Amino acid sequence: MTKPETGFQTLCAREIAFPRTTEPHILPLYLTSAFDFEDVDQGLRIFMGVEKGHVYGRYGNPTVEAVEDKLVALETYQLEIESKALLYSSGMAAIHGLFSTLLRPGDALLTQANLYGGTTELLLKFFKPYNVEIVFTDLSSLEDVRRSFEEHANIKLVFGETPANPTHSCFDIEAIAMVAHDNNARLAIDNTFATPFLQRPFSLGADFIVHSTTKYLNGHGTGMGGAVLGRDVEWVRERLWEMRKLSGASISPFEAWLVHNGLKTLPLRMRALSQNALAIANFLSKHPSVEYVNYCGLPDHAYNAIASKQMRHYGGIVSFELKGGMEAGIDFMRKSKFSLAPTLGDVDTLVLHPASMSHIRVDRELRLKNGITDGLVRLSVGIEDIDDLLGDLERSLE
Ligand SMILES: *Cc1c(COP(=O)(O)O)cnc(C)c1O
Repeated sequence: MTKPETGFQTLCAREIAFPRTTEPHILPLYLTSAFDFEDVDQGLRIFMGVEKGHVYGRYGNPTVEAVEDKLVALETYQLEIESKALLYSSGMAAIHGLFSTLLRPGDALLTQANLYGGTTELLLKFFKPYNVEIVFTDLSSLEDVRRSFEEHANIKLVFGETPANPTHSCFDIEAIAMVAHDNNARLAIDNTFATPFLQRPFSLGADFIVHSTTKYLNGHGTGMGGAVLGRDVEWVRERLWEMRKLSGASISPFEAWLVHNGLKTLPLRMRALSQNALAIANFLSKHPSVEYVNYCGLPDHAYNAIASKQMRHYGGIVSFELKGGMEAGIDFMRKSKFSLAPTLGDVDTLVLHPASMSHIRVDRELRLKNGITDGLVRLSVGIEDIDDLLGDLERSLE
């Protein structure tokens, strides 16, 4: 080693020339806000877009891009199609990125009333005042969807969640994609609940997929993130990317790296928690304290046929109505040993009583209209031993 020719403080401040070694086995975490150019000319070429390269963390990061490519590989698995993904700082940032890039004043968006609460709020509080018309309908009724298109010639995007929270209502993605395309509109699916292991909207004709990676894709409750995938690679690469760059909604490389870890066990987790959820749904539907169970994997559920057509398993969300309403709901929560965390998609089972928790500020009539009744309990079922889960439920229902 040659003796440094700088002052001590300079030596401390300057970046080290780190050793290039054999390739790391695991995706490296690039914690850097900027990337060095070899010389002025390379900087020019990269800024002009004639040479590929990284510039600044908000524009792109190798760790983040590796995870984006992996999401594309999963959502397009065995399909002869192209797609491009962008990761965001949260599911909401992803949904906002898609809407704000695609929708213009005068356009309409067709959706369902029982969307994820944040998405409904975003649409009504921010897009509606910008003169984007929000049209609500029942996406499981083709007749209603067709009528909405007849009544609103300006529908540019259909946005839906299947299965939806907490009633497990589902709609036929393939049929809706056809109606949307016949009317020159695009279809975007929030695939957070299903993940690409259980349901692949691109194979059914969807144009966009959004995810809250915070949930099953991360899978361990350790970080926030979101993703948008589009079939129009150019549009994602240029328009959507530009909006993400300018709004600063990029994901942190560390959070992307956590998603990368989670994805490795996605099929194992989704299979295990779906099996647990089905066993729990069956157990609850026979229990005398339970009025009814919402789980599209039950043969007598209203949407079992649609779900069976387009899903591999039915996922980990089970909700059920307790006999005895609000009081029974709160009592159940007191007895339950499950964590009371207001999220979903972790490896341990989480429980929520929407009427006294997430929806306590929502008008009761509106809440009831969306199937969130007083005695409704929602489980995000994890991968624990099923006997432990059924035992805890049995005790809590006493
Ligand atoms: C959680 C969730 C979102 C929002 O994602 P965040 O990561 O919390 O911003 C959107 N859609 C669905 C279906 C969700 O469950």
